Amino acid sequence: MHDFQYQGDELFCEKVSIQHIVEQVGTPCYIYSHQTIHRHFHAFDDAFEDIPHIVAYAMKANSNIGVLRLLAKEGSGADIVSGGELFRALKAGVPSNKIVFAGVGKSPEEIRYALKSDILMFNVESSGELQQIHEVAQAMGLRARVALRINPDIDPKTHPYISTGLKKSKFGIAADQALKEFELANQLSHIEVVGVHCHIGSQLTQVTPFVDAIKKVLSLIKTLQSQGLNIRYMNIGGGLGITYSDETPPHPKDLAAAISPLLKTASCQIIMEPGRSLVGNAGILVTKVLYNKEGANKQFVIVDAAMNDLLRPSLYEAHHDIQPVLKNESTPVHTVDVVGPICESGDFLAKDRKMPQPQSGDLLAVMSAGAYGFTMASNYNSRPKTPEVLVKDDNIMVIRERETYEDLIRGESIPEIFT
Ligand SMILES: *Cc1c(COP(=O)(O)O)cnc(C)c1O
Repeated sequence: MHDFQYQGDELFCEKVSIQHIVEQVGTPCYIYSHQTIHRHFHAFDDAFEDIPHIVAYAMKANSNIGVLRLLAKEGSGADIVSGGELFRALKAGVPSNKIVFAGVGKSPEEIRYALKSDILMFNVESSGELQQIHEVAQAMGLRARVALRINPDIDPKTHPYISTGLKKSKFGIAADQALKEFELANQLSHIEVVGVHCHIGSQLTQVTPFVDAIKKVLSLIKTLQSQGLNIRYMNIGGGLGITYSDETPPHPKDLAAAISPLLKTASCQIIMEPGRSLVGNAGILVTKVLYNKEGANKQFVIVDAAMNDLLRPSLYEAHHDIQPVLKNESTPVHTVDVVGPICESGDFLAKDRKMPQPQSGDLLAVMSAGAYGFTMASNYNSRPKTPEVLVKDDNIMVIRERETYEDLIRGESIPEIFT
């Protein structure tokens, strides 16, 4: 469910027409619905209301500080993967005692910043990293709270690029080495082992992989607890899928029904890290048609958004529905490739898509673009990044301005030898 619906022939976000927003900020632009994010957060949070838990929103999905503040106000924490994300989370008012830090390559500077900020814990992905956190904590005279991330070797049945819990993955510590790693961690004077973490992949559309992974983690937690380790947190990661076209992912309620009975046996506080499921269907990318081009055996619709604005189709061959902002039932349907202006064959938003043939100047909405959309945007081909707009009822709030050409060269300089 989302809040981008037609009123008559015109696409709206909540109570505002998309056309009206575009008149103010131009194209391409990202538009997010406050109501959708709010509803999705509470769908998740409420589903687990009978279990002590923290929802640590995986902010790499959408890290605009306006979006973060919205979620923080509803009680969300944050799952961060870099010092930059920590900076954003703190700026947005996410309480540090609800921030968890994941990622395989945390630098000593990032570790220091996180310890200084007194975050809830690090999710540790290797023994080398554990050693590094220990050293930094020792130098600061602190004890770092950590969970070890376990790789449970579960196939999440999703795209290989977003599958993270298989043996061949770079993420986490292999399940059969876990006991040894926990024992080692427990002996480090400036490390406090408080939890077990796992995250098996993204865009999961079945509950079984979650259940299987949680069972493995639970059995590890019980062993650790029986050996006297004070494991107080169980982090089950994120990964719940959304509907891009015809997927039917479980509702958070269904997920809760399947895993709550298991989670209750852990005698731990539960941490969950949903990203995509909170914001994915809360955002669209609006783009304008520039040209129609007749290829040798293909029709191209060339639009003003490109892979630098929305990378998912190029990176994962991901499907995004594309809808006209103004519907016209009499438009003939054609099969087209929707492509951007970037000088790469991989620059497309849709391939072989049946859609009403758009005309130059028409606006198109690329749906389900709220997660891993803007956060993956780049300046490739020196294209300024798009604005981001948050809509609440009939309120249009620009939460990021369009970049200017001057922004593109900020920090660059021409060496003196050329002057
Ligand atoms: C990316 C990520 C998430 C969020 O995944 P979604 O599929 O967006 O819910 C959660 N935890 C970790 C460790 C991640 O890397």
